[in-house]
Amino acid sequence: MWKQRVQRAAILVGAVLAVGAVASTWLWRDRPNLDSIEWPPPVIAGASATDSVTATWLGVTTLLFDDGETQLLVDGFFSRPSFGDIVFDRPVNNDAATINYALDEYRMRRLAAVIPAHSHFDHAMDVGAIANRTSASVLGSESTLQIARGAGVPEDQVTLVEIGKAYEFGRFTVTLLTSRHAAVGWRSSVVYAGEIDAPLAMPQPVSAMREGGSYTIVIAHPQGTTIVQGSAGMPEKSLGDVAADVVMLGVDGLESLGFEYAERYWQSTVTSTGAQSVYPIHFDDLTRPFGTIVAGARFLGDFELTAKWFETLRDRWDKDVELFVPEFGKPIAIYAQPVPDVPEAPESPESPES
Ligand SMILES: [Zn+2]
Repeated sequence: MWKQRVQRAAILVGAVLAVGAVASTWLWRDRPNLDSIEWPPPVIAGASATDSVTATWLGVTTLLFDDGETQLLVDGFFSRPSFGDIVFDRPVNNDAATINYALDEYRMRRLAAVIPAHSHFDHAMDVGAIANRTSASVLGSESTLQIARGAGVPEDQVTLVEIGKAYEFGRFTVTLLTSRHAAVGWRSSVVYAGEIDAPLAMPQPVSAMREGGSYTIVIAHPQGTTIVQGSAGMPEKSLGDVAADVVMLGVDGLESLGFEYAERYWQSTVTSTGAQSVYPIHFDDLTRPFGTIVAGARFLGDFELTAKWFETLRDRWDKDVELFVPEFGKPIAIYAQPVPDVPEAPESPESPES
């Protein structure tokens, strides 16, 4: 009798597990198609660009700024912990091979500073390894500095940020403003909130990389100003007195916060700064190998919907704004006007320039 019961229970458990496996596989595979977003491509530096400040998107919110003299890296995340590492909170390490590849492939030989938006693993886990391989300073929160210290970065190569202070790197001027992290955790909490209060040597579970405070990063240059908002949390104060040309807008989890939130987010970062170009970032699956760009699974955040919202918000508030999806690893001439593709013609009195 009990044998039959055990068998029946085993069959039931097996069936539940099988259905669960099928459902989770389906959930994991259901992803927005990036090709369905029909925005114009960004201007890639080279023959068609007339300007020299470039921003190269290296996945998630890691961005390399370069004006030909000085390079700045917003965030430092080249290692890619697996989905299992994150879910089961297994210790993860810096991926030396990928870090060496990225620094070489994107020619980071003039890197002045690494500036993480906050110290979660997907923004800051490689800052120490990057600083050790370059001459870059690490500029950030106390928690970010603890990640660098854990990797043995010397004290004269780390700088604790002062909010609102202008830091000069070549012709770039960088200012960090206090921001909030998007409250996309359980019951509107911030995932892995808190501080890192001692040097953090790798390997560590991703949960050890606490948020440590979030920033809106303003990168000014004689050619233009870019705001990088790494997390879809609001800047703490209005950015009304910051004029910007470009906004790089973290969208991870934005759709779960609702359209009204997205509208306030847009207004506080785009409308208030008068930016002309908006690039969503942090829409890609951060567990894919470095260089592989796939939208995150829809159940974790629907970038296709976010993109539609951005079109609506642009049409409602800032009609002249251009929306771009950044292309991985390509130097985007962020302040360039595309050279018009006009065939050579003799001078005409009806030239539109006159
Ligand atoms: Zn974060």
